[in-house]
Parts: sequence; structure tokens; C-alpha cells
Amino acid sequence: MTAPTPLIAGNWKMNGTAASIPEARAVAAHVDGRGVRVAICPPATLIERMSEALAGSAVLVGGQDCHRDASGAFTGDISAEMLADAGASLVILGHSERRAGYGETDELVAAKVRAAVRAGLEPIVCVGETLGQRKAGDALMVVTGQVRGSLPRELDRRAYAVAYEPVWAIGSGLTPTLAEIEEMHTAIRATLRDLFGADGDKPPILYGGSVKPANAAEILHAAEVGGALVGGASLKADDFLAIVNAL
Ligand code: PEP
Repeated sequence: MTAPTPLIAGNWKMNGTAASIPEARAVAAHVDGRGVRVAICPPATLIERMSEALAGSAVLVGGQDCHRDASGAFTGDISAEMLADAGASLVILGHSERRAGYGETDELVAAKVRAAVRAGLEPIVCVGETLGQRKAGDALMVVTGQVRGSLPRELDRRAYAVAYEPVWAIGSGLTPTLAEIEEMHTAIRATLRDLFGADGDKPPILYGGSVKPANAAEILHAAEVGGALVGGASLKADDFLAIVNAL
């Protein structure tokens, strides 16, 4: 089985206005899409404008969340169909900031993944343990449990990615050791094979949590690391490109 094409995705979180579009254009100017897929996931308000600005480039545009339903009385929410309509081709789901801040369970994340598949979006499904869970020796059990609970059978033969993001590494400047990253990614791959058979070898498993230009090369070349989900360092084109080029 050939290794999945790596994916480097930038999660802009609740950052960015129209004035940030040139930053995305600067990324697109230096990405040709050969050997690596690159995506930017801006706030929902920018998806349509960014999709237009990046049309014809190799940079994909993604959402950061979606509702489980296609439409309805859900004030303030956005459906997967709406993201696709605005020009997104991917969507981040189950980010720890949503699991912790909005009480998102594995069951809800799985429903959102089904919604993304229904709308033709490629989900990037996030999993990761808290520091307390790692210190208690439960990291592998927690994360593989999240993988089982958050990935519905509907993903079979679909394009998707899993992002391993230790909660304690996000925005903290801390990262696990390479051995810890490799151990977790290998366990996630084994779980994907258990769930989807040989197709479980296809999705890239991204690492996320304080990836920056200085540590990108060693993390991206670790066993079973198929790319990165990048928060803070994706906001500056130079830093994001340095991470893309570290592959
Ligand atoms: C994230 O929130 O997905 C993330 C990885 O953030 P950071 O790179 O800033 O740690």
C-alpha cells in the first residue's frame, strides 16, 4: 500500500477578516499541490471570499465545524451543505475546542462526519487526550476510543483524515516526544485497519499541537505522520509555507 498523500491544513480558528485574504493568496502563490495537499480553514465568514480568491490554485478551503442536519431551525449554525455551497471541500470536525467548549461527544462528531460525507466534504476528524489522561496512562485508550466513536461506517471508501491533537499541546508550545507521536499514530492506524480493513491504510493521520517551522521537519517525518493540522502558525503565510516545505 502506498502512503497516503500528506495533508497540511491550517486552522485559522476565530481569526481573520477580509484583510487576511492576501495572506492566503501568498500561501497559494508558493504551493503547486505536488506531493502534498494544502488547505486553509478560515472562519465561515471568509469561506466564500477565500474560495474565490484561491480559485485555480492548489490550496483547498475548509470549514471548522458543521451542524449534523442539512437545514432547519438552528440559529447561528451552519450545515455541511452550506459550507460546500460556499466553496469548501473539507471540514474540521471534533476539534478539542468544540469537544470541551461545546460538549461535543463522539456520537455528535460521528453525526457531523455523516453530514459532511452527505455534502461531499472531506472530514478532518480530530482526536486527542488531555494532560490528565496522559499522566494517568490512559492516552492510547482514550484516543483509540475517540477514533472508534467518531468515525462512522459511512466513511468506508471515502476521503477523510484523522488529526491526532493532544489537548495539552494545542497553543501551548508543548509537544509530545517523537516516540509518543509515533506510538499514538501507529495505534490510530491499527484502529483504522480494524474498523475499515485494508481501506484503513488510506487516510492520512495528521499531527496537530504547536507545530511550527522549527519542529515541523522532525514531526512530519515521524512514522505514520501523514501531515499536520496547524493552528497559530498557519496565520502567517511565511510560517505556514515553512511547515509545508518541511515535508
Ligand atoms: C489546533 O488548534 O488545531 C492547533 C493545532 O493549534 P496550534 O497549532 O496553535 O497548537
